[in-house]
Amino acid sequence: VLTVPPVTHAQARVDLAAVRHNVSLLAEHAGGAELMAVVKADGYGHGAVPVARTCVAAGAARIGTALVTEAIALRDAGITAPILAWIFTPGERPDEALRRDIELSAGALWAIDEIAAAARRTGRTAKVHLKVDTGMSRAGATLDDWPALLQHALAVQAEGSIEITGIWSHLACADTPENPVNERQLAVFDQALRIADKAGVSSGVIRHIANSAATLTLPAARYDMVRPGIAIYGLSPAPRHGDFGLRPAMTLVARLSSVKRVAAGAGVSYGHTYVAERATTLGIVPLGYADGIMRAGSNRLEVLAAGRRRRIAGRVCMDQFAIDLGDDPAEPGDEVILFGPGDHGEPTCQEWADQLGTITYEIVTKIGGRVPRIHI
Ligand code: PLP
Repeated sequence: VLTVPPVTHAQARVDLAAVRHNVSLLAEHAGGAELMAVVKADGYGHGAVPVARTCVAAGAARIGTALVTEAIALRDAGITAPILAWIFTPGERPDEALRRDIELSAGALWAIDEIAAAARRTGRTAKVHLKVDTGMSRAGATLDDWPALLQHALAVQAEGSIEITGIWSHLACADTPENPVNERQLAVFDQALRIADKAGVSSGVIRHIANSAATLTLPAARYDMVRPGIAIYGLSPAPRHGDFGLRPAMTLVARLSSVKRVAAGAGVSYGHTYVAERATTLGIVPLGYADGIMRAGSNRLEVLAAGRRRRIAGRVCMDQFAIDLGDDPAEPGDEVILFGPGDHGEPTCQEWADQLGTITYEIVTKIGGRVPRIHI
């Protein structure tokens, strides 16, 4: 862990103490349920390995990823906690995952068959979480197909190539806790669990459905384990309901690559969509849409520079954008805060998301690979 970040053109600083705080807060909300820290998409752009390590040290019993490759990378980086990867596509041959004791999800007969075949090839017993679609209409067996999925899984389990370790689902509308869809999905989940129980799949199976929003607002959705992602990073899963005391972990900073005076009437960046009204100082920030600064933020998003908020002046380019510093003093190399927890008056990721008409998830996961992640 670096305490003094090296000088780079830009950095996404990730405050691991904030991650620890958020995990503890989520664990309190989880009651007695286990916590699976979701670190897919490189830990929502924050760096999957350091975040996973921090979460486990802070009390997360398990780690969740979308892709099998993400799970393998975490195991190979030394994460020893149980890891579940929930996206599995035909022909993927998850042999390497089974060799690393990574748990997989199956919501269809073919998935059970392919996982079982990999288990036979590797001489392992695959741990499988059966997925029921309770209303998200994404992966998983619908209630109509659920009994057949259970029967098939039980038959394959009897042969010894899989072990049913979980039953799970995903909520579609948990970010609006008042939405009746939540209750309906929980009712379908309960029904699926009763069917599983009758079929003989119950003892010791981990039941899980809650994402961050449900962990924080729907106690009935906790079951045996919660599966928060965004809240671990300190971003609110239900912004209209507040920040829940979470602490944003990421601060995106850059250093001005150039500072220059321009005359009144100077057009700035492609298309001259910004024109200086009077002689002014422009600062150039070396981050662009290739780094996840969305072009839709042109002439719209604000950053903190030379002690004040400044709007992006003109179009965001691939690798840089301009800000208008007026007559304020600035030097090349000066730090600009694009977004962070807001402690210094900088915009928050939530503010950027609101400005862009998107969600914080999209902003942090789009920060590109050229931006070093510095964990402090
Ligand atoms: N579980 C599953 C299956 C997911 O796909 C996700 C993320 O989208 C999560 C849990 C975590 O969701 P959130 O980041 O909203 O907490």
